[in-house]
Amino acid sequence: MDQARVESLVRELLVEIGEDPSREGLVKTPERMAKALAFLTRGYSLKPHDVVNGAVFESGSDNMVVVRDIDVYSLCEHHLLPFFGHCHVGYISRGRVLGVSKIARIVDCLAARLQIQERLTSEIARAVRDETGAEGVGVVMECQHLCMTMRGVQKQNSVMSTSAVLGSFHDDAATRSEFLSIVTSSHHR
Ligand code: ZN
Repeated sequence: MDQARVESLVRELLVEIGEDPSREGLVKTPERMAKALAFLTRGYSLKPHDVVNGAVFESGSDNMVVVRDIDVYSLCEHHLLPFFGHCHVGYISRGRVLGVSKIARIVDCLAARLQIQERLTSEIARAVRDETGAEGVGVVMECQHLCMTMRGVQKQNSVMSTSAVLGSFHDDAATRSEFLSIVTSSHHR
């Protein structure tokens, strides 16, 4: 990203919305916004495989692993406004498990791009499958979208739920319902 170019675009944007980019409070805004944008879209230069960085361990078991309540912060590709919430990720490994923090890193890396929630959910599921060789993966995500709550219909408390299931989580109803019951129990803590 060309920081100077983005700064000048932000200055133009400020003029177009009727602001004066030279007033005191806004003088450094183009620089700050360009830096913020670079951070919020850092995922374009990261790959899930690189953030996992080899932290895949032999476990000798094939039990279901579920990581709940992982924070999600992303930008919707339709409005460039934030959507945020949390997700739950489960998988059944074939003896290979990810380091605990690595699932959250995969989520961060894929969320730090322009996204829609449905695609983000699927991309997380596929990345976990690809990194672990898991026989099945499930992801459930619940987010609020500022493009919906701050503008438009202004449904202030609406939460969008999406899910993606692969392999045995897709094919086996018992596996899927075990996952969903673990995930929904987190709502009643
Ligand atoms: Zn939107």
